[in-house]
Amino acid sequence: MADVIVVGGGIIGLTAAMRLRERGADVTLWTPAGLADTVSAVAAAVWYPTGITFEPRVLAWAAETYEVFRRQARDGVPGVLVRETRNLERDGATEEPWWAAAAGRVRYLPIGPPWTREVRFDAPLVEMGTYLPWLRERFERAGGRVVRRRVDRLEEALAEAPVIVNATGLAAGSLCGDPDLHPVRGQIVLVANTGVYVSVRDLGRPSTYVHPRTRDVVLGGTFEEGSWNTTPDPATRDAILERCLALVPELAGAPVVGEKVGLRPARRGGPRVEAEKWPGGTVVHAYGHGGAGMTLSWGCAGEVASLAL
Ligand SMILES: Cc1cc2nc3c(=O)[nH]c(=O)nc-3n(C[C@H](O)[C@H](O)[C@H](O)COP(=O)(O)OP(=O)(O)OC[C@H]3O[C@@H](n4cnc5c(N)ncnc54)[C@H](O)[C@@H]3O)c2cc1C
Repeated sequence: MADVIVVGGGIIGLTAAMRLRERGADVTLWTPAGLADTVSAVAAAVWYPTGITFEPRVLAWAAETYEVFRRQARDGVPGVLVRETRNLERDGATEEPWWAAAAGRVRYLPIGPPWTREVRFDAPLVEMGTYLPWLRERFERAGGRVVRRRVDRLEEALAEAPVIVNATGLAAGSLCGDPDLHPVRGQIVLVANTGVYVSVRDLGRPSTYVHPRTRDVVLGGTFEEGSWNTTPDPATRDAILERCLALVPELAGAPVVGEKVGLRPARRGGPRVEAEKWPGGTVVHAYGHGGAGMTLSWGCAGEVASLAL
């Protein structure tokens, strides 16, 4: 019998499994799908708390995650980059954003209309197609097990371990009856990277973002509350391209190399990270990270490990 079964193999489940293993637990991770079939694989995966409101523990998770990814980038972990980032604000804010305390050196620059301020900082960016397989392999090399398995009920895992982690993303809504969990649909377009290195985010509504990776550039985005539609929409793709090209004209002519849709696991009240006693054992919930699963992953995983052990 494992000490802990982590149900779900997206960034939240994998990171929690890794932290649990580092603390000496016997850990098995159950996941029904390959890494490429997770929402985590769709993410632009830049460090920024999109759609998440301030809570002291969210700030602490974000700060710890920022430090871990900066360290991983320095250590040459595959898929982890750091990009200079320009946030272009439109709301006239003059105070420091709540997340700035977690983001290293943050600078505030004047800018002309329609923007009211530029906020510049360095942000980790993770190429999930490279990083998730690295993380999974690191977990397995450390003695963790990964098993292809879907649950219809969390009790199936509780029958095989005294503690389980519920890291099932959007599926947690039905698995533990949480009415606050809901999808926020995001569509992105990928173009070849023809020489762009700075991330730019225009904080209009919806926000427009351009995140250069090694070989391609992620263009977005959309934030469609309550939509379960996972099919890319051509009109949305055209609108994203138009907005992003207006923001970063150097992208003109860059060939489109892909488009993707993912459903962010958003939760009214913020991410659910807490332990709950069930008749068969302890369930540590770790879901509802919305548009910030990468941003909160390592900090959150530390708390999950503390709750579980
Ligand atoms: C377009 C887009 C852009 C994004 N950009 C960013 C960004 O820049 N920065 C950022 O921080 N975040 C971003 N996000 C958000 C981020 O992708 C999510 O917060 C994160 O992926 C959530 O991770 P997760 O592990 O909870 O969920 P998932 O990745 O969905 O993983 C859930 C896991 O549970 C498994 N599972 C589901 N049902 C069952 C079951 N019945 N039994 C067993 N296992 C099950 C799944 O197979 C999967 O392995 C973005 C999301 C989208 C869609």
